[in-house]
This record gives sequence, structure tokens and C-alpha cells, in this order.
Amino acid sequence: MSDLRRDPISGNWVVISPEEEAGVKLDRFVRFETPREDCPFCPGNERETGHNILFIPSENGEADGSSWSLRVIPNRLPVLRTERALEREGIGMFDRITGVGAHEIIIESPRHDLLLHEFPERRIARVLTAWRDRVLDLSKDTRLRYISIFRNQGRRSGARMSHPHSQLIATPVIPVGIRGELSGAREYFEYKERCAFCDLVDQEREEKVRLVTQNRGFVAFCPFASRNPFEVWILPRVHSHRYETVSADEISDLAEVLKQVAIALAESLLIPDVNVVLKTSPRPKPRRDQWTTIEEDFHWHIEVIPRITRFSGYELATGMFVNPTPPESAAAYLRDTLFEVSRRRDDAQDQ
Ligand SMILES: [Zn+2]
Ligand SMILES: [Zn+2]
Repeated sequence: MSDLRRDPISGNWVVISPEEEAGVKLDRFVRFETPREDCPFCPGNERETGHNILFIPSENGEADGSSWSLRVIPNRLPVLRTERALEREGIGMFDRITGVGAHEIIIESPRHDLLLHEFPERRIARVLTAWRDRVLDLSKDTRLRYISIFRNQGRRSGARMSHPHSQLIATPVIPVGIRGELSGAREYFEYKERCAFCDLVDQEREEKVRLVTQNRGFVAFCPFASRNPFEVWILPRVHSHRYETVSADEISDLAEVLKQVAIALAESLLIPDVNVVLKTSPRPKPRRDQWTTIEEDFHWHIEVIPRITRFSGYELATGMFVNPTPPESAAAYLRDTLFEVSRRRDDAQDQ
């Protein structure tokens, strides 16, 4: 039986339709790899990519002798750039703003062929730290309202390069998807006087049916109204509205959970195509009079979305997603996978 589920924060409705499950075919594990020879992110080709916005030198020398461990560079073909004046213009009923913003690439490793689930935890932590540091730096530019960080892996995720990287796009406006979530969180807060995400963490930890993994700082679960099969959200257990306030300890907890989620998805689905998206509060406050409770009502989080299904005209027409995999089944499957992976590791250690 299919059912209609409403996401308590965004208010989006989703059709969970297990009957369709038979129709979903998992592709073979195909590694998407763009050529190494002309990869601008590989060591040796640094001159092609312009100046470093952030440069983390390698500690004890990278395996391939690279001098760096992580670099942040400007995107060569930026969607938006900071070196322009912010101008607004009304054209009849239309609004236009100059394309002020930032578009940066975080090159996560000198290694060309690493997938997220193969990253050592320490490297994931380094990436998460670079995200934080870039957000902190760009937050000084008061023209920028929203900073979005995301990671595409695999062709279906929209990646054009296989070399592991994430991207940051900062805009002078708040994107509509975020605005919907912010409004939903605020409405929930006005009604219940509690953060919707904190309630979500409590309920998922108590019910456990949609739980994937957790540690002292973070919890990962398949959301009740998952739009996509095997979608996983990772939330800090302690309330915080801004990602950039994370401490080093929190980052290592987050790296551990993110790695577990990446392993569970890669092993369960046999596809490496996945998007990782950071959702954090806009900064500065969008409108002083309008978002007075944002510190209390919004809770930053990470969404991990494996790209199994493709969107259809129905999703485009209505914004209502049809998901063939109930999140309870997905979470049970991911938990079993993690159990199996840790058993294999224990066995290997015993030998
Ligand atoms: Zn490369
Ligand atoms: Zn909260």
C-alpha cells in the first residue's frame, strides 16, 4: 500500500509507493572517472586553476608526493562572482540583481580516484573544516545572504569531474528551497515553541525504525517523508542554527557519522552516485524584523541523497516526489549493511 506523507518542516508531501519498487533497477557499480592526464585538480596541474583561496599543506607527504592535502580555488566558470557591485533593478513585474556571489571549488584530496566512502575519517574532517573556514570567511561579506555547500559524486549527481571535490556557492538572495524550509521551521516554532529539528532528533532516536547510525554528537536517519530512496539526514544532537560554529570535536564526530553513512550507501546500493548537501542558516539575518527566532527555530544539517531514481514530469509539475522505498525499509537495510561491514572488519582483524 502506498501512503502520502508530509514532511513536518518543509510541508512537502511525498508519495511512498512500495509497489513501484520492482520497477527500480540498480545499476552496476560503475566508477565514473574523467581522464587523469588533463585533470586540473590533480597535483602538477595547479597552475591551471589560478590562485589558492585556501591551501592546506600535506602533513607527512601525501602518498603521491603532493605538497598539499586540500586546496580551495575559484571556479573557472563561476556562476557568480564577488568582484561586482550589487545592483538591484525592477523591470515591470520582474526583479533583477547583478550576479554578485562566490563560486569556489574545494579540492578534497590530491588523489584523483577517491570516493567518499573510501576517504579516511581524518580527511573527511579536513574537508568539513575547510567548509567551516570558507563560510566564516565569506560571512564577512554582508552582501552575501546565503552560502550553499554541496558535493556531487558520480555522473547522475551532476558531477563533471571525478576528482573528489565539493563546491560552495554564495548568493545575495536566499534560494527558494531554503526559504521554504526556514519558514516551515519558524511556523513549527511559533506553534510549539520548540525547534522542529530537535523534536525530530528526539523522535527518531526514540522510535529507532528510521535510524541509520549515531554517536555522541550526531544522528543519521532516513527522514519520514523521504523524497528519494535511501535519503539520509545527519543532524547535530545539540541545537545549533549555524554550521560555522562547529567545534573540532564536533567535526570529528560528524566525520565519523558521514563516513558510516557513505559506507552504508555504497555497500547497500552498489552505486557511487550521491549528493551531499549542507543546509545552514542564512547570514546575516535575512530581515531583522522577520526572522527574529532563527537562532532557535533553525537547526543546520546535512542531507545525503543517493541518485537512484530520475525525476519525472510529475515531480517537476507538482514538486511532489514519488519514492518507491519506504524510509523504514531503507534504514533497516543500511543498518544491516553497517553491521555486516563491521563484522567483516572484526573477522579480518582476528586473522
Ligand atoms: Zn584529478
Ligand atoms: Zn534544534
